[in-house]
Amino acid sequence: MQNDSERLSELSINHPSAWDIDQLRANWFVFVEALLKEEANLLIPSRRIRWQIEQTPAFQEVVSCWDKMEGSHRLDAWKRLLLAAEEACRTILPACVQCGECCRMGSPTLHLEDLVLLQSGKIPWDQLVTLRKGEPARSPFDGKPFVLPEERIKIREKEGLRECVFLISETDRCSIYVDRPLQCRAQACWDPIPARDTAELPFLLREHVFEGVDLLLEIIAGHETRCGFAVLSGAFEELSRSNGGNVQEVLRLLSYEEHFRQFVSDKFKIPAQNMELLFGRSFAWMTTLFGFRITEEPDGTRCLLV
Ligand code: SF4
Repeated sequence: MQNDSERLSELSINHPSAWDIDQLRANWFVFVEALLKEEANLLIPSRRIRWQIEQTPAFQEVVSCWDKMEGSHRLDAWKRLLLAAEEACRTILPACVQCGECCRMGSPTLHLEDLVLLQSGKIPWDQLVTLRKGEPARSPFDGKPFVLPEERIKIREKEGLRECVFLISETDRCSIYVDRPLQCRAQACWDPIPARDTAELPFLLREHVFEGVDLLLEIIAGHETRCGFAVLSGAFEELSRSNGGNVQEVLRLLSYEEHFRQFVSDKFKIPAQNMELLFGRSFAWMTTLFGFRITEEPDGTRCLLV
């Protein structure tokens, strides 16, 4: 496996005058990565630095004219890009430039202050998911795993990714930017303090979202008692301890939780897409957290597989 400096020296064998536009972009990418390592400026994502420079008229002119440039002009243009990159590393704009980098590293957790965004429909409820007490989570600051001391409501992430659902991949733009949640507004890749301060503010809980709907709150409490994360976790611990002896109990639990959701959805006409806000992620989904998956036989029998 090559490291960045090896890639850099390999890419730099050719003189810029001989590069086509793809080679220019490849060298540019490697140069910025290497530069950031040298600057030890790792707080700022390299994509952010590249984005900032790539928006400048100077960069866009170089890229759009590269194919038509003479060799000596290409060398000058390349030098200008290198200087611009060094300058950008030193003078990162203290403002969000909507490069989308933060949004690719995880979706935001909502705070009480964000409730108004839900109530006004600016953030649709079906794009939210509740992570329940005891579930494993990742710190938004250093990515380290930790166990949630209490529930959190988050915006969904795209299937199989850590990317926020509101990030438009084609443009790197947030589709709710004007109405983005508090955490997004506080997040600043050039300064971690506002986001850390925000994490001290009260988080949004289901009791806030469904305040005044007592029946729903009772149902949520009932679901927590019978189907809390600790219940599932305990069942899987026993599965391991008993060497698979309680597999039927685990399957019964999964089935019970599924029926619970279905019953509430049918009875109160709650769309299926809103169930993850109401009850968090299903037990069936959570089996993957314990290294298992469920399969279903043609006769409907369920099996738990590693
Ligand atoms: S809500 Fe918008 S700003 Fe916040 S993480 Fe999602 S895409 Fe990014």
